[in-house]
Amino acid sequence: MNEKRGWLRVPVNGDEVSVPDVPHLKCPACPEVVLRLGDARQLDREAIVRYRRKRGLLTAEEIRALRQRLGLTQGRLARLLGLGVNTVSRWEAGRNAQSVALDVLLRLVRDVPGSLRYLRSRAA
Ligand SMILES: [Zn+2]
Repeated sequence: MNEKRGWLRVPVNGDEVSVPDVPHLKCPACPEVVLRLGDARQLDREAIVRYRRKRGLLTAEEIRALRQRLGLTQGRLARLLGLGVNTVSRWEAGRNAQSVALDVLLRLVRDVPGSLRYLRSRAA
């Protein structure tokens, strides 16, 4: 395997995100690429950042800020949006990206008075 740095493509929410300058090991005889664990984690984080930037989505920090302004825990916001309990935690940690539709919903909750009350009224 040869040490290389270069562009790699990562799937994020069904899209393909290209990330530059990724250290990896490349087989000279076939298309196989292997990443060290730390490099793989860094690649995934960078792909999430780039996916959000490309789609104009809220950043992890913006999601945390809007949630804290509303006085909600990560789990409570997840339940209000009908999501799995760890979903907001993964968004804020940069381990997953919200879909475009959920980004719209987050902005509604942030920007439209009464929307949080509405979500609370219909949540279990
Ligand atoms: Zn090979």
